[in-house]
Amino acid sequence: MVRESLVNTLLLEDLALGVSTAPGRKRIEILGPFTEEVIGSVPEATPEDVVEAAVNARKAQVAWASRSLQERSEVLIRFHDLLIDNADLALDVVQAETGKSRVAAFEEVYDSAATARYYVNTAPGLLRRQRRTVSFPILTKAYEYRHPVGVVGSISPWNFPFNLSVADMIPALLAGNAVVAKPDEKTPFSLLYGKRLLEEAGLPEGLLQVVTGYGEDLGSTLIENVDFMMFTGSTQVGRVVAEQAASRLIGASMELGGKNAAVVMDDADLAKTVPGVARAVFANGGQLCIAMERIYVDEKIRAEFTSRFVEHTRNLSLSTDFDYTSDLSSMINRDHLDNVHGHVEDAVSNGATLLTGGKPRPDVGPLFYEPTVLTDVDESMELCRTETFGPVVSIYGYESLDDAIAMANDSEFGLNFSVWTRNVDKGVSTATQLQAGTVGVNDGFAATWSSYGAPMGGMKASGLGRRHGAVGILKYTESQTVAVQRIGPAFAPMGGMTYEQYQKMLGVVLKIMRRVPFYK
Ligand code: NAD
Repeated sequence: MVRESLVNTLLLEDLALGVSTAPGRKRIEILGPFTEEVIGSVPEATPEDVVEAAVNARKAQVAWASRSLQERSEVLIRFHDLLIDNADLALDVVQAETGKSRVAAFEEVYDSAATARYYVNTAPGLLRRQRRTVSFPILTKAYEYRHPVGVVGSISPWNFPFNLSVADMIPALLAGNAVVAKPDEKTPFSLLYGKRLLEEAGLPEGLLQVVTGYGEDLGSTLIENVDFMMFTGSTQVGRVVAEQAASRLIGASMELGGKNAAVVMDDADLAKTVPGVARAVFANGGQLCIAMERIYVDEKIRAEFTSRFVEHTRNLSLSTDFDYTSDLSSMINRDHLDNVHGHVEDAVSNGATLLTGGKPRPDVGPLFYEPTVLTDVDESMELCRTETFGPVVSIYGYESLDDAIAMANDSEFGLNFSVWTRNVDKGVSTATQLQAGTVGVNDGFAATWSSYGAPMGGMKASGLGRRHGAVGILKYTESQTVAVQRIGPAFAPMGGMTYEQYQKMLGVVLKIMRRVPFYK
């Protein structure tokens, strides 16, 4: 029996009230990709609305930052529990506006809860005052403090609209900041539902402001009015955002595009590698920044891998149901569907071999695209180097592992790669030679992404800065060093010594200090 979605017009109208705008603004209609029909609408915020939102966020931030970390943590951990208790509705909201499979919606919602738990547990150790090394013990003592930056701006994409807005703002809020968030214009409701749960969990009103509208209209005003930018989206737009943030001398974290590579070695366990790589390629219909779009296979097993991979791909399921039956997601909109199909047509017309897929699937849903496997792809084809962001992958052969590493690294991007082998040591040593911010061994993206304690982000044109780990919360803070002079200034003679005498004495002291192992 098909499961009914819990999302209805009334709920979406109610969520739209969470947008910070003056009354009477134009409306943006939101299309549900499963039907390509309007499911709801949100106000089209103006630059004036963004300024007002930032002013109000700034006011709310002062009181929030004066609360203890313990109090702030209690709000975020209540949010964790509320999210799990309301997961079915959260998954339905995400699926309704993205057209994604329930599996992909489940991943982003539960990952957000787990991120909250991780930062609630680690923030006390990371944000507390730290005693720091000084020039000479006794003379001076120094502490490093971590203060919130103030107001964090967030611009997020449509592909994981809950996680890439809500989960990324959790550490910002915990650290004592306010947030002004602009979701993608196609997918505002996931964030608005997250906002509702955060406020139900006790987040003070005004601390999280959501402005809905187009990036080109609101982006620069947002950057002008915040103290840090968290951006997730394309490399092209990321460059614009980074330039503007740089000219204001504010920090920015840029999580951008990829053209990720999987390296399959000759000893890979194909029973696990074939479904593993397929998941890494086709999850969320390939609309996943960390999905694989290039597979490099050792020539010794290329034929066998390819035939098993194609067979596996042909058996993947596609559906618009609000349950766990579909392996793939719909494309987000018609433009994107055309773009994905355009990449495949361009490749085939330039000589690529289509092994399976290669066409839209309106019989499943208006915007579905078949999982597609290509080979004989070369530089004449656009998808050779450009991110497709759809369910399309190219298989290449390699003669030596050095060749495979060189081919994988021959890209302007370096986000998330993977290596597949029975020899884990060799897999790890190969991973360290790949130019990507994260590399999974015998896994496509789940292990790298969900290692919350480790930084996650891109090298090269895939980004600047990282989410997760210590850096994922410290980036939302300003460090402040407070040093107390106790006896007298360092590097200045004391007790009537001349500089000559002092220099000699200091030479002896420094030589002793370098032999004291515990004095860093
Ligand atoms: P996009 O850059 O077009 O849009 C992302 C966000 O930027 C949207 O909210 C959009 O409204 C806003 N925006 C657009 N123009 C703007 C401007 N001039 N100033 C400020 N904001 C502006 O990206 P997209 O096509 O929606 O998302 C897909 C891309 O995002 C892919 O390249 C994908 O790899 C990347 N992505 C990266 C990560 C990551 O963590 N590295 C995660 C998800 C997606």
